[in-house]
Amino acid sequence: MTVLKLDNSNHKRVMKMVSVVSTKSFFNYPCSHRQWADKGHCQYLHGYSRSFHFHFVSDSLQEGTGWVQDFGDLKWLKKHLDEMFDHTTLISSKDPHLVTLKNMHSLNIINLRIMKNPSMEGTAKYLFEWINREFEFSKLKGNRFVRCFKVEVRENEKNSAIFELPKEAILKLDWEQIETLLSDVAYKDI
Ligand SMILES: [Zn+2]
Repeated sequence: MTVLKLDNSNHKRVMKMVSVVSTKSFFNYPCSHRQWADKGHCQYLHGYSRSFHFHFVSDSLQEGTGWVQDFGDLKWLKKHLDEMFDHTTLISSKDPHLVTLKNMHSLNIINLRIMKNPSMEGTAKYLFEWINREFEFSKLKGNRFVRCFKVEVRENEKNSAIFELPKEAILKLDWEQIETLLSDVAYKDI
């Protein structure tokens, strides 16, 4: 085995490969959804206790604390999750029965939330965009910035989906470039 010599130039190169990541999880969100495009049992309204897992990276650590993201400073995220996923029914904007479902909402039978796609994949992408947009516009971090490079959405202990961008990329791209990537036709269904 050849051992890498840590001289001045190598030290800098290797330091660039070091990363500190922090994560925050939110559990037990009871909500239902249906997958209108499925021909099997996922076309029926069904529910899970969803959980959400966010992975953060920053261009530099907060001075003094050494934090990537202040965990106490995520009440705005919890508020959004409560509003979207607590006792709600998630329905795609393309659902052919949207009128009926809106009617059920007006009768207080369901608490409807319309999404592009309520699947785990669609929800992960939705939250990835939502949280990074908040980071982008809220300017909470002063002279440094935080981004969320990975969102995992679980419907139970068996099934989940992850939407992510390599952390090296998300720190280097500006928001316009990220939006262009997110609108790529490869993701047209989520
Ligand atoms: Zn299903």
